[in-house]
Amino acid sequence: MKFGGTSVADAEAMTRVINIVKGQLEDHPDDPPPVVVVSAMSKVTDRLVETARLTSVGEADQAVRLLRELLDRHMGVASTLVGPAALAPLLAAVGKDFDDVSALVGRTALLNDVSPQATDTIHALGELASSRIVAAAFAERSIPAAWVDSRAVLVTDTEHTAAMPDMDATCRKTGEIVGPLRKAGQVAVMGGFIGATPAGATTTLGRGGSDYSAAIFGACLNVDEIQIWTDVDGMLTADPRVVGTPRLVPQLSFSEASELAYFGAKVLHPSTILPAVAKDIPVRILNSRRPDVAGTMITADGRATSGQLTALACKRNVTVVDITSTRMLMAHGFLRRLFEVFERFRTPVDVVTTSEVSVSVTVDNPRRLEDIVSNLVTFAEVNCEPDMAIVCAVGENLRADPTIFGRAVNSLDRIPLRLVSQAASRRNITFVIRDADVPEAMARLHAAFFEA
Ligand code: ADP
Ligand code: ASP
Ligand code: MG
Repeated sequence: MKFGGTSVADAEAMTRVINIVKGQLEDHPDDPPPVVVVSAMSKVTDRLVETARLTSVGEADQAVRLLRELLDRHMGVASTLVGPAALAPLLAAVGKDFDDVSALVGRTALLNDVSPQATDTIHALGELASSRIVAAAFAERSIPAAWVDSRAVLVTDTEHTAAMPDMDATCRKTGEIVGPLRKAGQVAVMGGFIGATPAGATTTLGRGGSDYSAAIFGACLNVDEIQIWTDVDGMLTADPRVVGTPRLVPQLSFSEASELAYFGAKVLHPSTILPAVAKDIPVRILNSRRPDVAGTMITADGRATSGQLTALACKRNVTVVDITSTRMLMAHGFLRRLFEVFERFRTPVDVVTTSEVSVSVTVDNPRRLEDIVSNLVTFAEVNCEPDMAIVCAVGENLRADPTIFGRAVNSLDRIPLRLVSQAASRRNITFVIRDADVPEAMARLHAAFFEA
């Protein structure tokens, strides 16, 4: 059971979590107890990102002040939920984590630089603190619970801030550390998002990575279900921040969920589905404020929805890069050279379209774009267009019904379509449009396919 930032935002939210976990234990007394994975309290990671930034520019005092504010917030929640006996050791443990990071900030700020490794140690503080508090709050309300340091379980590579799990090593540790707790009837409470290298350096899986942590632990333990508890009823037919009244999607296939997550449905971290697919474990998205709503069930097959599309997603503020071969025709080897440049600068491309002499790709993260362009111009003409967006329509039905594509294009009448692609899986249609057109495009697609 993974609870996201808003689901553990304060004492009230954590009390809802306590009741949900109690309900699970009471309803399934013969099952092994759930493993609980929590995110940092809402907005805490954002503040820690700011802390790391301040550290990198030598602003140690401001960074430490931010940490002190965060510590106060955690102390307040802890003292609301935990009685006097357990409070002292809890505050000591949380306080020590904060002290360690404050000391690190002080040392690092002197260098006017913050290493990726130090960045991860700072970012990890939110999940460490929230998980310690939730574990103590469970025990206070007589849920048999044990805090587990995720850094001792989730083994990753050394790619700080975007680390990849070593599944074999992680499953071994999960079996050694979490397995016996479950056998003893204890609810293991762990921080999501964080792990450590084999040498013990703290790492993180990338923003939104707690979902991924939950799926990794779930796969290692071969659980019956991976539950993602969040602040919406489930996967909705569109991003609720973009479309006014999206509907709940009751069922989804793994592939549909992956596509939606990859193209911007923030409710699920894009990698969450991978461990679930490997072990064929259903993933359910649920609302911690409305635990009785059935949510979204994600399985290998999903189930054909009554509509023709399953859901929409959008990825805002991407850059389109047009790369034109400087020879008349696209010489063979051109594509290889072109993609090698993106690989060298570790920049994924999301959408690709080609013509006889040119290739257009979209890039989400423009961090290395300057380097990429200066490499590409040695053998091609390059044009970059920022402020674009990807709108993606997803559905298993796209394969069976070739008319959906035309209807989608028609619904976007007069909105300039910069790139259009239908993936080989024929599970999605992708449009690249101006970012400013996103609200209108999403509203029209939504009306055409989900509001009829
Ligand atoms: P958590 O903190 O629980 O991990 P997130 O903020 O990461 O929650 O993800 C939940 C949010 O994802 C929702 O509040 C919603 O604004 C956003 N979202 C974007 N697209 C979708 C979608 N298709 N369905 C549901 N939520 C979506
Ligand atoms: N706390 C982390 C973040 O805000 C991870 C997560 O919430 O999933 O990105
Ligand atoms: Mg999230």
